[in-house]
Amino acid sequence: MDISQLIELNNSKEFYGIINHKGSVYRTYLKIPEYPLMKGSKIKILKDLHNFTVTCEESDSVGEFFSKFEKAADSCGENKLQYEEILLQHKRKNILDELNILRRQEGYEVSVATDLSTVKFCDKTHFLILSLTNNLEVGIFEHSLPEKQKWFTSSTGTLTSFFNEFTRTLDDLEEFYSNLNTIDELCYVLDPVEPSTKCNYRIFKVEQKCYMKLMMNPLLPSSVAATFIGPTLLVEKYRRKYEEEIVNWDQDLDVHKNLLKICGLVYFPVRNDEDEGDEMNCSICGTFQMDNSIPMISCDNFKCDLVFHVGCLKQWWSMVADNKTFLYIELGTTCPMCKEKLSTSFEQLFTDGEQ
Ligand SMILES: [Zn+2]
Ligand SMILES: [Zn+2]
Repeated sequence: MDISQLIELNNSKEFYGIINHKGSVYRTYLKIPEYPLMKGSKIKILKDLHNFTVTCEESDSVGEFFSKFEKAADSCGENKLQYEEILLQHKRKNILDELNILRRQEGYEVSVATDLSTVKFCDKTHFLILSLTNNLEVGIFEHSLPEKQKWFTSSTGTLTSFFNEFTRTLDDLEEFYSNLNTIDELCYVLDPVEPSTKCNYRIFKVEQKCYMKLMMNPLLPSSVAATFIGPTLLVEKYRRKYEEEIVNWDQDLDVHKNLLKICGLVYFPVRNDEDEGDEMNCSICGTFQMDNSIPMISCDNFKCDLVFHVGCLKQWWSMVADNKTFLYIELGTTCPMCKEKLSTSFEQLFTDGEQ
């Protein structure tokens, strides 16, 4: 035990300071009323929320007195563990109380992992999964809200605060999701392949070989950006219409109706079962759906009706280009079969990634 840091308060009878014992630090008040005799000495220890006093009996030697202190300090360490366990129990009880209240929420199902490591809230379309650490700190694990945006103000909180923030956000996104649902229902959406609450874009069919990639701002439902994918002539036609008509965007109509108006169409092509058999497989891999992608790239030659997956074209070119680097740029912009030019909008799609 190191008592070198004690400060004398009163002519060798009172000391105050810090004692180091087994790597722990104790704030200490030491009183030796009959100095230099140890008789009647007291040490008061303040450690975290504990304090204890050790008294020196008349029969105690100095060594015995200090070993009393050491014993008391050791049991204080044990108490500290208990204290943490008590805190944890308290937290656990709070969480179970919160869960009892949250389970009564209308429309949401609550499921809790048996080891209390996660809590999941879900309704028919949306979910929020919260994670709990060993110390029962609550954090976000996963959710169904749009990607690439920060939806929660803080990374720490309670089950209730995260749940409330989640449902408030869903209220704010109501119009956005209603627009997305209309497009998912009334258009032939090729990407994402499964309707997704996390993607804020949709690629859907506008006419044979021509597709629109629509990006939406979740919090500004009428703020959209559209690009077209397909043979150059068709892309040019729709791009011109879009540029001319976007200024006449009607706030009273939903996104789907506005887009129809812009494209001068009564409806966008829908996916129906008859079409399904007619769908063109990718001319490179021979399949329709591959890695969540559907073949929608074609060339400018209207007599060539081959279609390709973006990923397959990429792979095919890198294979061909392996030993012919100088040809790569030309290969990357022409149809692998008929050598006719591929749409310029396609190059952009290529650099966007696999979307
Ligand atoms: Zn393919
Ligand atoms: Zn071609």
